[in-house]
Amino acid sequence: MILLDRYEEFYQRALQVSIEPVRWKVLQRLGIELRVRRDDRLDAQLGGNKAYKLFFNLQAARAAGLTQVASFGGPWSNHLHALAAAGKAYGLRTIGLVRGERPAVLSATLQDAEAWGMSLCFLPRESYRHQTDDFVAGYLRSEYGEVHVIPEGGANPEGSRGARVIGRAIEQQLNGCYQQVCVPCGTGTTLAGIAAGLPATKVAVGFSVLKGVGNLGTNIASAYRGALLPDSPDAFRADNWRLVSGFHGGGYGKKLPENLLTFWREFELETGLLLDPVYTLKMFWGIAGLAQQGYWKKGSLLVAIHTGGLQGRRGFAGQINW
Ligand SMILES: *Cc1c(COP(=O)(O)O)cnc(C)c1O
Repeated sequence: MILLDRYEEFYQRALQVSIEPVRWKVLQRLGIELRVRRDDRLDAQLGGNKAYKLFFNLQAARAAGLTQVASFGGPWSNHLHALAAAGKAYGLRTIGLVRGERPAVLSATLQDAEAWGMSLCFLPRESYRHQTDDFVAGYLRSEYGEVHVIPEGGANPEGSRGARVIGRAIEQQLNGCYQQVCVPCGTGTTLAGIAAGLPATKVAVGFSVLKGVGNLGTNIASAYRGALLPDSPDAFRADNWRLVSGFHGGGYGKKLPENLLTFWREFELETGLLLDPVYTLKMFWGIAGLAQQGYWKKGSLLVAIHTGGLQGRRGFAGQINW
């Protein structure tokens, strides 16, 4: 497993993540080149953007002298899955606070998490919504003692600072020869970090998987400012990120519409690249949609981040038998 330990080693590992050409007619026809950065292959258990968001969060736990870490997620949460894997690798006790009632049969995600030593605690929806409340803090303290709490999805300044590594690595790996970097967006923490890691002349484009973006833009803006190095001239540069919101396919975790299922099948069969239904599928759908609207300039090179989440395909097993 990769070491979420020393920054320089972590950065070196990020430099080894391959950026591969994708043969995809939708873009080839328009003279647009696409490459995919395979962060899904970063690590067998810790793959994807969640590893980046955990890096500084785990360092913060260590700096506080705490060996117990708790966080939040749904039954198919990539974040809880990665946290459980990290806990096992580092000898940390992990606690997963899961939305909803405990089901008779756990999801494959939560079965993994439990097998890796995570204690699962199911929160009724009402207290889940108030997860930062004293209620949860008090509960954790009474059950476990001192616990380091990471917000859902690793959505905090530590999370976006960790995602900066991806932007820095791309610039170095491609020696500046690309125009845009595409990434799926849930909380936008990863988008903000990547944009902050790129030079100001490069743009990171985020594809929201949520139906209503609400204050997502505001959150990204502050995460972006937080991830820029405060003492560099960069701290005052113009925003180099964009948020695209028309390709959510019904919203987060919702049943996929028929046309998106068809797109999913055709994309995988044509490119050989597997996608997860919640995030990366919607990004590639959005990339194709924007291409048809003439958004990408002919001759440009796009880098799409495969942020992982493939473990979540197990929840769709019945629908993806192609
Ligand atoms: C969590 C997740 C995202 C979204 O990351 P944010 O930082 O919340 O925007 C994207 N892709 C995958 C596979 C994820 O698991």
